[in-house]
Parts: sequence; structure tokens; C-alpha cells
Amino acid sequence: MISKNLSVIKESISEACRQAGRDEKEITIVAVTKGRSLTEIEEVLSCGIIDIGENRVQEAVSKYNSLLLTPSFRLIKWHMLGHLQTNKVKEAVRLFGLIHSVDSLCLAEEISKQAAKINKIQDILVEIKTSSETAKSGLKPESAIEVIKEIARLKNINIKGLMTIAPQVDNPEESRPYFRMLRELRERINQLPVISNQLGILSIGMTGDFRIAIEEGATIVRLGRAVFGG
Ligand SMILES: *Cc1c(COP(=O)(O)O)cnc(C)c1O
Repeated sequence: MISKNLSVIKESISEACRQAGRDEKEITIVAVTKGRSLTEIEEVLSCGIIDIGENRVQEAVSKYNSLLLTPSFRLIKWHMLGHLQTNKVKEAVRLFGLIHSVDSLCLAEEISKQAAKINKIQDILVEIKTSSETAKSGLKPESAIEVIKEIARLKNINIKGLMTIAPQVDNPEESRPYFRMLRELRERINQLPVISNQLGILSIGMTGDFRIAIEEGATIVRLGRAVFGG
């Protein structure tokens, strides 16, 4: 089931890349495993997916510990997708290769502080709230540039790109303006003198809209239902 789903996904990604004139090697699939069982995660790993996305630190730690003996354990790159609370940062920095959900200077400062303690440079994405739905976290686009300038000064953080969660829509075309806004914001940020490494990653696109996301420049697609069903 999972391996079949992945074939279908890869086919769609190839197709979207062909249409957009992009190289499919630019796209990373993150399998979103929140609420999924260890068996399901082992199955996705056995299909060659090594990027695993979780929304809660505690759940990720528990799965991490349970997967220690899995053959591909060492290859797994853990992605933190959910809102991160300051008191969970210490554990998060130990576990995650990429934190997608940095949405304040305060959180970034704590990440840098905890990363320094273990001599790590933590890769992060800055989460932007591209739609006005109040429940979503993320920096407002208007204040993003000022905050990112400050985050870029922190020693133990490496800003790799931007992430957004588009609103739930019926027609995936409706997500396009949000994705486009994020890509344009990335271009503006990359022109700032304080940014020494260009921001390459755009983490956009979920099960319902990943093809559109790829057309708009996604380099990471975060897929839950498309991979595991449901
Ligand atoms: C759950 C989740 C996803 C995956 O959503 P699907 O629609 O199941 O693909 C992606 N990103 C985030 C932040 C999520 O919480």
C-alpha cells in the first residue's frame, strides 16, 4: 500500500517537474508520520524514504527510541513540522536535522543557545503565515524580513529557507498565491546583505496541493495522507 502510494506520488512529482521545467532531484519528499504507527514508518523507510516529519517533540522522541534497531535508522533525517514550545527546544535540537517551524526571534534564540551547548549548528526554516487564518502560527510576511535579519545573526543557527502551511482549500489552485508569496519573499530575503548563505529551501505543499507547490518552486513537499492513506 505505502510502496504503491509512493510510486503514484513519484509519478506525479515527475510530471509536475516536467511541466514546470524543473529537475525532480530538487524535490525532497518528507513523509509526515504524526499519528502513524512504527510499522508504517518502517515500511516507508524500507521504500527508501529517509526524511521523516513529526509535529510533536515527545512523539518524535518516542519513535526515535523505538526505531534505534531499524536497519536504516542512521540514515533518517528528522524534520520538526509542528509548533515548537521553548521548553521543548533542548530535546528538539538533539533530535531534529531540520526545524521547519521557527516563528519568532525568541524561539530562534533559544534554539541557538541549546545548539551551542552541544556544539551544533541547527538548520532551520522560518515559518511564514501567508494566509490571514488566525489559528496558524508563523511570522507575518510584513515583519518577516526584520526578524530574519536578527535570526541570521545568531551563531548556532543556519537559516536554510522558508516554510508555510497554506489554508485548507477544495481546489489546490487556491493555494498557488500563498506559495508564490513565499517564493517572492525568499527572493527578497536573498538580496539582504546580512544573509551570507542563500535560502534555498521552500517547504510548501501537502497531499492536496503538492503539484501546484512544485510549480511554484517547492523543494520540500510534506506528505501524510498521500503516503499513508486516510
Ligand atoms: C499533517 C501535516 C502535513 C501533512 O498533511 P497531509 O495533508 O496529510 O499531506 C504537512 N505539514 C504539516 C505541518 C502537517 O501538520
